[in-house]
Amino acid sequence: MSTRQKSCRQCGTCCRKGGPSLHHQDIDLLRQGGIGYRQLVTIRAGEFVYSPVSGAVEAAAGELVKINGRAGEWTCLFLEENRSACGIYDRRPLECRLLKCWDPEELLAVAGRDTIRRADIIPAGDPFLELIAHQQRECPADAVATATAGWRSEPANEKCRDLLADLVRRDLALRNHAVVDLGLPAEIELFVFGRPLFKQLAGFGVGIREVHGRIEFLWP
Ligand code: SF4
Repeated sequence: MSTRQKSCRQCGTCCRKGGPSLHHQDIDLLRQGGIGYRQLVTIRAGEFVYSPVSGAVEAAAGELVKINGRAGEWTCLFLEENRSACGIYDRRPLECRLLKCWDPEELLAVAGRDTIRRADIIPAGDPFLELIAHQQRECPADAVATATAGWRSEPANEKCRDLLADLVRRDLALRNHAVVDLGLPAEIELFVFGRPLFKQLAGFGVGIREVHGRIEFLWP
């Protein structure tokens, strides 16, 4: 980036680093239907995620609701690659309006502040809220962070590895129950439950596979 840059060149680089976290100022965008649940992903408290403030991957201090990436990547799904343009430019969220790659001060001033949680946008009494509370009791994301630290210590703590496997299995079972038995639309699973826990472990080189209906772990 040139230090003389003073305006957006519409190169799309910022949008390829990930969609914005949503703030209370963005709630009208959701209410008006410009952005739907199926276009959101939740980052749960304690989940490892890239922080634009520190510039490092670290445990999220609190829950965030973000615009999802495209096809499993972080590139914002509203980025129109053929012209490197935002598909919702006139109604883009707060962070996108504040983002200036040549001067990040305005964005950093709001990062992590006044952000929305799922409970801020799901109506009270909606059965999704009970599913979310159940997941938090059964497989909280911050438990993964704690167990991962133990598993990766020297000597590795085998109990932590077993706990991680148990958390991942419970998380997958809950998602499957919600979609298959309770009729949760699969396209909003990432909003309701956040990223599957095994996706977090993939960042540490842990793979999973299904063998005869059972989940097996491939530890590095
Ligand atoms: S909403 Fe638009 S401006 Fe914001 S990250 Fe996505 S494509 Fe870029």
